Amino acid sequence: MPELGFNEGAWRFGAFVIVLLIMIALEAVWPRRERRHTRLRRWATNFGILFSDYLAVTLVVLLVPVTAVITALFAQQYQIGIFHWLDWPVWVEWLIAFLVLDFVIWGQHVITHKIPILWRIHRVHHTDQDLDASSAVRFHPLEIILSIFIKSAAVLLLGTSAVLVVIFEAVVNGSALFNHANFKIPTKLDHVLRWFIVTPDMHRIHHSIERREHDTNYGFALSIWDRLFRVYSVEPELGHDKMIIGQPDAQEEGPETFLWSIVLPFFKMKSRKKDQASNHKNSQETT
Ligand SMILES: [Zn+2]
Repeated sequence: MPELGFNEGAWRFGAFVIVLLIMIALEAVWPRRERRHTRLRRWATNFGILFSDYLAVTLVVLLVPVTAVITALFAQQYQIGIFHWLDWPVWVEWLIAFLVLDFVIWGQHVITHKIPILWRIHRVHHTDQDLDASSAVRFHPLEIILSIFIKSAAVLLLGTSAVLVVIFEAVVNGSALFNHANFKIPTKLDHVLRWFIVTPDMHRIHHSIERREHDTNYGFALSIWDRLFRVYSVEPELGHDKMIIGQPDAQEEGPETFLWSIVLPFFKMKSRKKDQASNHKNSQETT
């Protein structure tokens, strides 16, 4: 199998820590919303979930050696995938790969909201009652593992280079830290940025307690998919300061604790109000 040529883990970790520290600094200097909870317990829980993701992925990779990068190296060795069959300029391949991979994770995000068994897993992310950069790592290990297999399938189909996969994943992780961060961006700048990327104000609506709002704005990095598929909300009905973040049946202290969060998918959940889902046009952009 070909090799990547650099220490992938060290690069990812380095990029993650740098962006995380920048976001924490911005949150301290220009906070957007008042916090409902102190940071200590939430951060311990959210970063605890991140550590459990690391352990789970390490274990799964030992049993089934598949990650998006391993798949890209495998595709390169056996010349599998569209980019290996067709001779396109590298920049075209990178552009297509970036768009397709971003669309695939957008699509995965949508189905985790629509299919009840997947919503059980993804709901862990949505039970956070405050939103800040630490919320970006609050994904249940089962969702991370699902994501690895979905991304790997897309990488195999495209024949994406392993280097691009590492860059793409670093960009998406950086975007998630950015758009979950609790810092203020001037309104005009926010509106310009939103034409291209998902901003914190745009993504916060996705964490609203109201289903008609949290079933919109699914994007991770690029904002185009939400606009294209008409699931884009401009503003929360109650405004950013007053909107409630989290889930209606998880407003107690449970989400602040690691164990509650990890076992949440295995317990029965209350059915969601479906009637509200079709009303999201109230807050959609009409132009
Ligand atoms: Zn979601």
